[in-house]
Amino acid sequence: MRPSVLDPLFAPLSTLPGIGPRTGDFYARLLGRESVEDCRVVDLLFHLPHSVIDRRHQPGIALSPQGGIVTIRGHVDRHQPPPRGKSQVPYRVFIHDDTGELSLVYFRGKAQWLEKSLPIGEEVIVSGKIDWFNGRASMVHPDYVTTVDKEEEMPLVEPVYPLTGGLAPKALRKAIIAATERAPELSEWLDPELIRRQSFPSFHESVMQLHFPRDAADADLQTPARRRLAYDEFLAGQISLTLVRRKLRKAAGIPVHATGNLSARIRQALPFSLTGSQEDAVAAIVKDMAGNDRMLRLLQGDVGSGKTAVALMAMAAVVEDGGQAVLMAPTEILARQHFETITRMTAAAGIGVEILTGRNKGREREEITARIASGEAQMIIGTHALFQDNVSYHKLRLAIVDEQHRFGVHQRLSLTAKGAAPHMLVMTATPIPRTLVLAAFGDMDVSRLTEKPAGRQPVTTAIVPLERLGDVVARLKAAIAEGRKAYWICPLVEESDVSDLMPAEKRFELLQREFGKAIGLVHGRMSATEKDAAMLAFKNGDTRLLVATTVIEVGVDVPDASIMVIEHAERFGLAQLHQLRGRVGRGTEASTCILVYKSPISENGQARLKIMRDTEDGFVIAEEDLRLRGEGELLGTRQSGTPGFQLASLEAHGDLLEIARKDAALMTERDENLESERGKALRTLLYLHRRDEAIRFLRAG
Ligand code: ADP
Ligand code: MG
Repeated sequence: MRPSVLDPLFAPLSTLPGIGPRTGDFYARLLGRESVEDCRVVDLLFHLPHSVIDRRHQPGIALSPQGGIVTIRGHVDRHQPPPRGKSQVPYRVFIHDDTGELSLVYFRGKAQWLEKSLPIGEEVIVSGKIDWFNGRASMVHPDYVTTVDKEEEMPLVEPVYPLTGGLAPKALRKAIIAATERAPELSEWLDPELIRRQSFPSFHESVMQLHFPRDAADADLQTPARRRLAYDEFLAGQISLTLVRRKLRKAAGIPVHATGNLSARIRQALPFSLTGSQEDAVAAIVKDMAGNDRMLRLLQGDVGSGKTAVALMAMAAVVEDGGQAVLMAPTEILARQHFETITRMTAAAGIGVEILTGRNKGREREEITARIASGEAQMIIGTHALFQDNVSYHKLRLAIVDEQHRFGVHQRLSLTAKGAAPHMLVMTATPIPRTLVLAAFGDMDVSRLTEKPAGRQPVTTAIVPLERLGDVVARLKAAIAEGRKAYWICPLVEESDVSDLMPAEKRFELLQREFGKAIGLVHGRMSATEKDAAMLAFKNGDTRLLVATTVIEVGVDVPDASIMVIEHAERFGLAQLHQLRGRVGRGTEASTCILVYKSPISENGQARLKIMRDTEDGFVIAEEDLRLRGEGELLGTRQSGTPGFQLASLEAHGDLLEIARKDAALMTERDENLESERGKALRTLLYLHRRDEAIRFLRAG
């Protein structure tokens, strides 16, 4: 049970002021959760400011620097509403101090409100950004306007939080302040010696310091308070991994005795022979599974390196021994695709292949789960629906998780720890550096697919400014007339986002005029059936140009697609561009990738596109990306930090991870069930970071 001292932090987020049906979705998006029902107060407490606005600068109007944030104390002289019928002209209010005059500018300003908050003759305080033009100072939409008697209501040092479209900074700030009021004092779980060495404040103090900064330096990633919270998070992760893995290893693996007869038949049915590194990976897996310990292996291989075939051979080994294997994909589309590939390749071997996703409901679902429970289903493909409580397996021996570049493995490791003790294989397309593997997965054995399958054509990449889009379309028309197939990728756009971007739907409409029936569309907001239909039409060649958002990024395989246009390429992370480009160059034709960018583009942005042009090597791209942007971006996760981590960033806090690893190992060795004073406090830490699943293993022993 979660200690009751944490209850206030685990109350639903909707118990905070200003979080209701209208804003709930924005908060869910901000906090990276599926819906607001999944959000707890603690999630907002851990939403930290990325910078600080200092409003203490009060130089007077005349000495205010261009573009600077200043606070001005002045007298209101006059109001100048826009002339009748000219609502595009802003409403201006003029104020002055001893040094000069300032015009406050309000577009679509509401006269009533402005007259009330800025009464003529009154002394007021305003704060915002100063803009000089032709020797006149103005301030467009001041951040704060207040009368002198309410001066202290204006925060002079103000934290700035990562935002998402639709949320007002002031409302967010209010909710966060309410969240900090719920933060309890907690018994210390850290080693006193470490606290001394690192000058860590307590948990409560750290939270308060970060949300109530005293100056700009408090937003730095290296303040003791920030490092403390980062360390806490690493430590919770490492302890939890240690416990989960201890449990996994303890539950002795059931050795799998592969006979090789099914694999042989599948090999015959494959339209290719395995590469050397695919063979090595299969051999390592078969060997792992034959032993008494459970396998915990990571299969790393670039996009298109052929991980599915390795998964298939591993599953075949299990089926040969009378067992079942599951393959879990991150998306519905991908699960369907795996299912088709695997059904095709195993047809000759007469294996029972099944698919189970969230889409299977009612009778159909019952029939499928019955076949899984009876063992009639031998290879089972699906999404996370595979591990829901009411799915039971006959003889589950192997669980394969196709992560691509998403990280949710932690949870999934523990999910499979629930029932039998299947061997585990995690597949990922991200060339994750070793430190990240450790942070996200703990000590796992690793296989790498380093060879590209034979017959792969290199992809030529070109960088083109948006102004030349006409040429791109013309060339595309010619290519499609020759019978080629192309993807056209648009960035995902939120409706609330500033819309100079071209959302997929709008682009689709424009291109439809050129391409007529040959064009298809697939994006995330379509239903699963619609998505499938669009993908199928493209695969079959009914459509030859597919406009898509990044939904196609993960794993879609249409080998004869040989052109990819990526619009607003500057908006994508390199890892994502690499994943996307991996969709072409899979067939026998020479392929092209066109990166269309919108000017002006930063130097860094140019450098990033050039990397894409100059290499196809995922590891080189990942390293360069890490150098240019930091690992959070590399993995295409939320704006800051490291995948799976909310507070810690490997780049900034990497030194702490190593300490946390040792600390976790030591603690779990000395105090196996976390029962000492410090052990109990550590349990609280695990709950605080939602590592509850690990605690289950403590009690179970
Ligand atoms: P990923 O590693 O990205 O999941 P896939 O498993 O989807 O890659 O494989 C990409 C494509 O390469 C598929 O069309 C697959 O049939 C093909 N392929 C896999 N292994 C080989 C091989 N050894 N030789 C030739 N083609 C292969
Ligand atoms: Mg794949």
